[in-house]
Amino acid sequence: MITLKEALTKSHEEMATLREELEAKAKESGLNAYVGYESSGEGVPILIKDNIQVAGWSVTSASKILQGYIAPYEATAITNLKAHGMMAFGRANMDEFAMGSTTESSFYGATLNPHGTNRVPGGSSGGSAAAVAGGIAIAALGSDTGGSIRQPAAYCGVVGMKPTYGRVSRFGLAAYASSLDQIGPITQNVEDAAILYDAIKGYDEKDSTSADFEIEDIAGHLNGEVKLTIAVIDNYIEQADEEIQQAYTETVKKLKEAGHTIVHKTMQNTKYDIATYYILATAEAATNLARFDGVRYGRRAEAKNTQELFFHTRSEGFGEEVKRRILLGNFVLSSGYYDAYYLKAQKVRHLIQDEFDAIFSEADLILSPVSPSVAPQMGASKDPLEMYKSDMYTIAINLAGLPAISLPVACNSEGMPIGLQLIAKKFNEKILFDGALSMEKVVNYTK
Ligand code: GLN
Repeated sequence: MITLKEALTKSHEEMATLREELEAKAKESGLNAYVGYESSGEGVPILIKDNIQVAGWSVTSASKILQGYIAPYEATAITNLKAHGMMAFGRANMDEFAMGSTTESSFYGATLNPHGTNRVPGGSSGGSAAAVAGGIAIAALGSDTGGSIRQPAAYCGVVGMKPTYGRVSRFGLAAYASSLDQIGPITQNVEDAAILYDAIKGYDEKDSTSADFEIEDIAGHLNGEVKLTIAVIDNYIEQADEEIQQAYTETVKKLKEAGHTIVHKTMQNTKYDIATYYILATAEAATNLARFDGVRYGRRAEAKNTQELFFHTRSEGFGEEVKRRILLGNFVLSSGYYDAYYLKAQKVRHLIQDEFDAIFSEADLILSPVSPSVAPQMGASKDPLEMYKSDMYTIAINLAGLPAISLPVACNSEGMPIGLQLIAKKFNEKILFDGALSMEKVVNYTK
């Protein structure tokens, strides 16, 4: 597949032909990565996750409850794409309302992993990652609340980047957990990720949490030769599968040989990451999803009165995982439990942030696994708690609002990709991409 960088040098006509080819190939692939083939604008086609609004397109967050809903306005990330020679083409499959780690909870059915169709592509941006990995998209946009860009990228052997919270506008992104959500790129390589990140980033007055300062473009100034201090969290990696630990150790060795300084650190609060995240994310989700009541958006159930309308619309429209999270979120916010769970989780969130700050006072980047295993088999993630545990390496980054990038480093003995992530200080995307470029070179990953 042509890279994003190359595609940006081509004519609109060539891109129009490519779009037709992509649609045909995507249908033939059987991956179920695309759930729509709409196009908007002119230029290099970028696949868009089904929770990002493109004016006039259906946007459903892969949920039954939003069937028939048409986006009345455009997400700022899409407006920005279009100003940079790109266009929106195709809807990427995802977990319902971005809640999940496998893309199996989609109303449209599961997406398959191109490296093994009995495997999940990861989630929730599984359609975006599978399409880029399967050669049926040049690049894609995903969203990352607790790992949903980085983890599917790792499972599919592609690059996925989560920007600093506030760097990319959330205007027009269906809210899951508003204090954690970020839109970001999924691409074939690090340079393409920087190009797409440059295009979508920037201050937006329509998003009150948008950072109101500009940062220079990165892609034209990438420096893969810079020597950085990279922290390795020793007590963090032990919980990953053996082959992931091996890939990690091997990568550390190569980074050292390439001239980077490795410093060894420990983190004490990682054991609280999952609990903290699942309290805060579900609390915010329960609040955000209260708006889907059959009155204002999408699908409306048959009912005799208003109460029945809410009840039936929500009971029929939401899937099992979404309902579980609404229940959990309302529980931790309810009087009597608010202090014990929600408030405490907010305090722990600060401790997690402080711990990252302490490491970044001595290191430019942190290297970490993305997930404790490679892509699981389809249907193997039935136990929700087990599935939540698979987020152990990604969610703290969202809790701390940091930028991070996942890139493939090796394959395991079954040929499934292994991804590792680099994490940087807030708004230090330049160093993040420089480090990633260097790492991409030294690991020399090939499918
Ligand atoms: N797997 C995590 C969850 O289910 C992360 C999802 C995401 O980043 N959108 O909440």
